[in-house]
Amino acid sequence: MAITVIGSIAIDNIETPFNKTGDILGGSASYFSLASSFLTDVKIIGVVGGDFNKKHLKVFKDRSIDISGIKTEEGKTFHWAGRYGYDMSDPETLATELGVFSSFKPAVPHGSKNDMLFLANIDPDIQFNVLQQMGSPKLVALDTMNFWIEGKKEKLMKVMELADIFIINESEARLLTGESSIFSCAKAVLKSGAKILILKRGAYGATMFFENKFFMVPAYPLENVIDPTGAGDSFAGGFLGYLDNTGDMAFENLKKALVFGNIMASFAVEDFSVSRFASIKADEIKDRFRKFREMTYFEEL
Ligand code: AMP
Repeated sequence: MAITVIGSIAIDNIETPFNKTGDILGGSASYFSLASSFLTDVKIIGVVGGDFNKKHLKVFKDRSIDISGIKTEEGKTFHWAGRYGYDMSDPETLATELGVFSSFKPAVPHGSKNDMLFLANIDPDIQFNVLQQMGSPKLVALDTMNFWIEGKKEKLMKVMELADIFIINESEARLLTGESSIFSCAKAVLKSGAKILILKRGAYGATMFFENKFFMVPAYPLENVIDPTGAGDSFAGGFLGYLDNTGDMAFENLKKALVFGNIMASFAVEDFSVSRFASIKADEIKDRFRKFREMTYFEEL
């Protein structure tokens, strides 16, 4: 039981209307692995540059994440800068510098070839390359963003055809499919291969489409959101971590996985970077699960 993730390991600069910070650890693989480490074993495949401060690796080691697949190459670490408005959603991208990811040739370790695979947000060429090297992955899930939809749509569509689960922001699903309603988006995506579609809706939670059914979960209500960065990747970590932990793909269990996704996302946004993951206690996760039940349960008429 383990998940292998390929995705960005980044140095971020983040601006919100209330705060500004720079040179902090970010990246889709970073948030995903930390969130899922509370539910299952995780292995990262990725690359950092010579400028990457090794102190960041301790964050992963402290959560027993396997980082033997993180390579250091000559050049600069992936860098992203983003700015949020007062609604604290859909950031404006100020800079995306691929650095060492622009020439990265991933190698999937032998021990990862049959794991559950998460193709976190990164260049679809890299996602495709990793997928080609897998043996019989238990399940393949995929995430992406507007940067790659606009830049590499054709390759992205190829990866989509091979994925079991597609996790994407609602606004990006519209951009990808050209459809407006979420049901039309779901139809278009599910036609192209994936069996399950999850639309992330920021502060409004997430919607899951599976066969002819759908299910919605609100976001965990928080009074103070410090930094929304990584919410989507942490959502994926909670969702897939729970599925890997339970090994149950029945619709009722997928619903619980959706709740775990929202729980892990709620922790991610309570502090800058991945800081909050260092202080989460098992009881807090259970407590938020209970609150979700209270918040969404009502009796029949
Ligand atoms: P999220 O807020 O969950 O969508 O993800 C935020 C993380 O994605 C940040 O820490 C960024 O470093 C990373 N990121 C931003 N743009 C890209 C991109 N084009 N490819 C891969 N990762 C990215």
